[in-house]
Amino acid sequence: MVQQDFLEWAANKIRRGRPPSGTGKLDLGELPPDLRLSVPDVQQLHQELASRLGGVDLVLTDNRRRMVTVKKRKGRYRMRLHHMFVGCDEATLDALACLAGGGADMSEARSLIKDYISENRDEISFDVEPDEVDGKGEHHDLDKLLGKWRQRLGHGELDEVVITWGRYGRGRRTIRFGSFDFDRKLIRIHPALDESWVPEFFVEFVVYHELLHALYPPKEAASRRVVHTEEFRRREKDFPRFEEAIAWERANLTRFMER
Ligand SMILES: [Zn+2]
Repeated sequence: MVQQDFLEWAANKIRRGRPPSGTGKLDLGELPPDLRLSVPDVQQLHQELASRLGGVDLVLTDNRRRMVTVKKRKGRYRMRLHHMFVGCDEATLDALACLAGGGADMSEARSLIKDYISENRDEISFDVEPDEVDGKGEHHDLDKLLGKWRQRLGHGELDEVVITWGRYGRGRRTIRFGSFDFDRKLIRIHPALDESWVPEFFVEFVVYHELLHALYPPKEAASRRVVHTEEFRRREKDFPRFEEAIAWERANLTRFMER
């Protein structure tokens, strides 16, 4: 199926919202624009789940960390599923429905879903395609900044880290200057930083912060996930212009929000 068709169909689907059948809403807005999925398979997944649970608002995601989440609110199921479940077999559909509906065989359902995920994991591309990344901005060169710190921090595992300017999201009221994708070892820097009035040392600080995530992964502590561990925070302060960077951020945050 041609990519354009899928995107147009997805856009229509989102515009039209809830279909008359009572199947529930289908939201494909979180999928990456270059993902190729078969429309009939997507519809079938939605219908199969709805026929088992009686109306499901389904959000397909590209979230590799949380492949399945289900909530029941006001008698309606809201499922977020990784797109790898498109085209899954009957047993997996039953297991997903069981998990959502709190069926008797929860543990069996869970292990079935885990099996499905581990079998299909390889089909998800964790590799970063070369045309996905572009660190060369109009004002700041992210590859240069990454290269500098990769060398200084001197760990072999940082060789795999790649960096790119991100894209502008829709209608956000907060701004996140950078993010680190642990699976893909990909740093994304917010495009709002690619401005002449943003000093290079600040961009560098954001790059440094994200790179530290590769060295100090999150820790699970008492059912809570600590992303910025104590050690992380200590190393963050090693940045030569740390205080200055924090002060600059504080002084200029509103300027980012105004755009
Ligand atoms: Zn962070």
